[in-house]
Amino acid sequence: MGSPWTAIAWTLTAAGVAMFMYAAFWDRPGRRGRPAYRCRRCWYDLTGTADRLGSLQGVVCPECGRAHHSRRALRRTRRKRWAVLVSLGVLAGAYASSVWPRVSAYGFVNGWVGAVPTPALILMVPLLDDTPGSYARPQGLPVARWPLMEQVSAQVVGRLSTEDETGWFEHWLFHRVARVTPPSVLTDGTSKRGHVFTSVYGNWARQRRLWSDEEDWARSVYFMQLELPESLPQMSPVHARVTSFRRLVEDRACRVRLHERVYEVRRGTLLPADLEYRERWDGTVRLSDYLRWVNSMQASPREMLPIAGIIFEGDRTADIWWPVGEIREVHGVNIVHETPGTRTDVIGAIEGYRLVEDVDAIRAWVQSRIRVEFEWEQDRIGNRIGWPKGVVFRMQDLPDGPGLDAGFTFGGSIVLMARLEGQEDGVVIASLDPTWWGVRVRDGFVEFVGHAQWVGFEEADGMGFEYLTGLHEVRVESMWIEIHPKGGVVGGGEYAPLWDPEVERVFPEPLRIEFSESEMGGLREKLDAYPAW
Ligand SMILES: [Zn+2]
Repeated sequence: MGSPWTAIAWTLTAAGVAMFMYAAFWDRPGRRGRPAYRCRRCWYDLTGTADRLGSLQGVVCPECGRAHHSRRALRRTRRKRWAVLVSLGVLAGAYASSVWPRVSAYGFVNGWVGAVPTPALILMVPLLDDTPGSYARPQGLPVARWPLMEQVSAQVVGRLSTEDETGWFEHWLFHRVARVTPPSVLTDGTSKRGHVFTSVYGNWARQRRLWSDEEDWARSVYFMQLELPESLPQMSPVHARVTSFRRLVEDRACRVRLHERVYEVRRGTLLPADLEYRERWDGTVRLSDYLRWVNSMQASPREMLPIAGIIFEGDRTADIWWPVGEIREVHGVNIVHETPGTRTDVIGAIEGYRLVEDVDAIRAWVQSRIRVEFEWEQDRIGNRIGWPKGVVFRMQDLPDGPGLDAGFTFGGSIVLMARLEGQEDGVVIASLDPTWWGVRVRDGFVEFVGHAQWVGFEEADGMGFEYLTGLHEVRVESMWIEIHPKGGVVGGGEYAPLWDPEVERVFPEPLRIEFSESEMGGLREKLDAYPAW
């Protein structure tokens, strides 16, 4: 501190302690020429009579008449009461001068709370409100007139963030309090209590004042809030929405690996680190490739799903990352039961989920609003290269179209179909990359759910575009996309709509969306020109 008050405080402390020791312990029996046995009231020398202690009356002082019955009673230390009081007064003065700079700082801004010792304030931290959003700095008032708990919070943060005011004991005590506080509170800077922890640990990290084992702990403290589907079919992949990801110390860039994907931590949530330009992301993270009901003897098939991950800190520009913590959590998920439908490609009633009732109305709604287009690779001047590499789903704006009162999700295996002139049935041209799986409609808005807005072809399944070129003089009448909710192509499981963490109602039947005539025209041009390009 270096202020004259420090010197005054130390001088007064030394004087007070010396005076107290003298007043309280100097005049002991048998020391410094004092008699070994004395009357405990008038201090008369009773050394010669101490051996008569065994008798009935004990030792009676000839001076004042006080009777003593034990040897200990004759060996009382003579304390100078007035001097003890004065020395305590001096010590109080020493304490007062040590806190005076803090109390008087900036025109007494700290008020009397500035005089409370730091350890006492630290012990009050667990009493602060931990309700999310409860932290707010009182506006337009001097600190000394803030509510008491606000003052405590401000004092703890202010003092612990100042190296001169944090002794070893204060540091240790605050760390002990932090270790017994749950991560959900520690990391929540919006609550009164969480604000203290995030501020102090944030400052300690920036000031490089964390003890090494404490730093290992502090950087590993995280809180992750997940939204998972209540129930899922067996063998289906598990997706979840991360609604919140917070850490105690957030002074460096942070990445998180969950399952097999790495996410960037931005503004309290996760964003895929490898998200490509134009790629749309539905906001869900894949937690597991499949959910398996291990114990089939259980009455209620509730599966405890382990969630594992690693937290990295690093430098975004240099792209260097090192692990600082682990994510280990367990979430309970129910295994769904389905009542078998009459057709195998239709989902029957599912326990825990509602199916849409007005199937025809929703089919009409989807077909009038969702448009499919081919995704082409183009050269620099806009010429289309090769065959389409995938399909884009687009929403059509129809202000006067039929309305929807409740949301629904549909999705599943997606195939590209074509019908040739003079034929009844369609042929499968290609199946689409099964990482994409569906569409969620909510409040009249379509949200594409899956990994990309455009979906790539998997050429391995289906006849391929070359098949169409081999048919001379045969016209491709029409093409369309079919989505089968119970198809076997998507992942290992079924009921792809249920992978949506926010599924409200499930559309249970296959859906078919036709390509427009103009889209077909673009494809026919390519087919006619083949193999000239
Ligand atoms: Zn006496």
